[in-house]
Amino acid sequence: MDLRYGEEYEAFREEVRNFIKEYGHLSPNISGSGLSGGIHKPSERTVEWQKLLVEKGYTSRTIPKEYGGFGGEPDPLKTLIVSEEFTRAGLSPGLSGQGISMLVPTLLEAGSEEQKRSYVGPTIRGEMIWCQGYSEPGAGSDLASLQTSAREEGDDFIINGQKIWTSSAHYADMMFVLVRTEPNAPSKYQGISYILLSMDTPGIDVRPLKTMTGRSEFNEVFFTDVRVPKSNVVGRRGEGWKVANTTLKHERGLLGDPNQIDNQLYAVAELLKTETVDGTRLIDNPIYRDRLLRLQARAYAMRWHSMRLLTTEIKHEEPGIERLVVKLNGTHLMQDIAALAVDALGELGVLYDGGAHLRNNGVWPFRYMFQIGMIIGGGTSQIQKNIIAERGLGMPREPRGDVKAKEAV
Ligand SMILES: Cc1cc2nc3c(=O)[nH]c(=O)nc-3n(C[C@H](O)[C@H](O)[C@H](O)COP(=O)(O)OP(=O)(O)OC[C@H]3O[C@@H](n4cnc5c(N)ncnc54)[C@H](O)[C@@H]3O)c2cc1C
Repeated sequence: MDLRYGEEYEAFREEVRNFIKEYGHLSPNISGSGLSGGIHKPSERTVEWQKLLVEKGYTSRTIPKEYGGFGGEPDPLKTLIVSEEFTRAGLSPGLSGQGISMLVPTLLEAGSEEQKRSYVGPTIRGEMIWCQGYSEPGAGSDLASLQTSAREEGDDFIINGQKIWTSSAHYADMMFVLVRTEPNAPSKYQGISYILLSMDTPGIDVRPLKTMTGRSEFNEVFFTDVRVPKSNVVGRRGEGWKVANTTLKHERGLLGDPNQIDNQLYAVAELLKTETVDGTRLIDNPIYRDRLLRLQARAYAMRWHSMRLLTTEIKHEEPGIERLVVKLNGTHLMQDIAALAVDALGELGVLYDGGAHLRNNGVWPFRYMFQIGMIIGGGTSQIQKNIIAERGLGMPREPRGDVKAKEAV
């Protein structure tokens, strides 16, 4: 098999390398130091870097110019080359997250012209941060059981109810939220609407929740008579389930990204080169070396799997359950990489806040705990396995009486 990309693409690679030479020093730090990788408001430096990448077409490359993007032709190989070169140079690939990676593709598929013009540009430039209002206390895996209501009043909807586990809601500017606009619809998948709203709207109360990392990354969000214009519905009113699943499809691609895996694997390899036991570097210890190589083999498998997805994309085919494999394996792999680092650090591996002996600003124990959340968020591993088993392997379906919504995607 010839895996070379051809002359045109090698010329493009050169262009990317030149950009890196000239501007690489402006990238925010993504190495093992600093509590990067969590959910936090992007720094000014990160937003400036993001704007530069958008302008040069190294992120959001294919977003049309009229919506604030670079307007490049869809070319997955160019996207791959950019990510290969940025990963090799240890540079930030730019922002991702619920706005850029999930809402923007959803709006491009299902949004109105006005919604695309208002929201896509500021979102890809990192100026408008979004949160995802899906889960509720009684609706997680069984998402379609959501109860937050939106009743009509003139040209507006009035929203009442509660969301939970809403990442970034404490600093987000906007939310895309699922609400029930037709409570008497014949099935729970009908009568749901997908609505965009500003987090400044009166009646929204955000209460941060602490995770096991000790930080507040997600929130409870309460809605009391929150007024939103009807024109903020994405797609058709009452047909939000379909739109919601478009977003979920992109969320699963986002969680378990092979580039992030490579970055973290390089960082742990560096750690094993500097940490020693009785004067021997851990990278030269057969047990740690063996663990590292096993993780590297899994990272390679993820990389080749992403190449397979790329081929699917080039052929304009819908990948189906292959994206779920990225989410399932990628999130577990990232946690296993962090676990190796925590073990390598010994007793220092449990420290991450303050302390003279802290390594890499405590990023590894933080990531170890943070990644457990990623295994759950965006549909738990059990749910991913159910779908892969039923749709991919053709195994019998679970009883449909109380069907789990994220399985009905
Ligand atoms: C870090 C983090 C960030 C999150 N961010 C957001 C966010 O920004 N916005 C948002 O809307 N939500 C968010 N969530 C919520 C997330 O989507 C839900 O936690 C997830 O869908 C699971 O729902 P649940 O917590 O209600 O658990 P439940 O659905 O109650 O599940 C409990 C357990 O039962 C298992 N289970 C449930 N049904 C089945 C089944 N049919 N077969 C086998 N096992 C099953 C689950 O796998 C799980 O282990 C986030 C969660 C986490 C952890």
